[in-house]
Amino acid sequence: MAVKKVFKYGEAVLREPAKEVHKVSKKIHELVQDLLDTMYAQNGVGLAAPQIGVSYRVFVIDTSANDEPLHPIVFINPKIIKKSGAMTTQEGCLSFPEAFIDVKRYKNVTVRALDINGRPFVIEAKDGTLQAKAIQHENDHLDGILFIDHCVNRFDADNILEKYNLPPVEVNKLISEPELENELKND
Ligand code: ZN
Repeated sequence: MAVKKVFKYGEAVLREPAKEVHKVSKKIHELVQDLLDTMYAQNGVGLAAPQIGVSYRVFVIDTSANDEPLHPIVFINPKIIKKSGAMTTQEGCLSFPEAFIDVKRYKNVTVRALDINGRPFVIEAKDGTLQAKAIQHENDHLDGILFIDHCVNRFDADNILEKYNLPPVEVNKLISEPELENELKND
């Protein structure tokens, strides 16, 4: 359909919880196509609807390598139903151009969602793969949560954000993750 403008950190829509999809209508099909077109145009591995200014619970990912065929996966009304294991990892986001920041994540997640035909499916992403990270990152966008809210060190994060002319970490949005932190300490 169309490559859309990607909203940048600091714009309000990125902090708004997105609405549930009640019917996988033609409008949602168009939204998904816009997400895919925009994600591929920007060489992203994932994109959530709020990032193009549409507050619905929809995201897409494609974690295939450059030399592999495209493998888009569409998630509508996703829910992470299981998570375990802790890791730190570096992430970027199309809403934070060029900024890569260390964050805390689960290694394993199980997500349930509807596909483009409105049929339920489950994906188990394990061992801290790019897919496991992308699912957590994009799912957060639907709740107005951004990857910097999981940052390992907010001062380091601020330095990187400043370098790319982005606003600093919002301290009141930082997520306390005792489960992850305890496990990281024991590593
Ligand atoms: Zn993002």
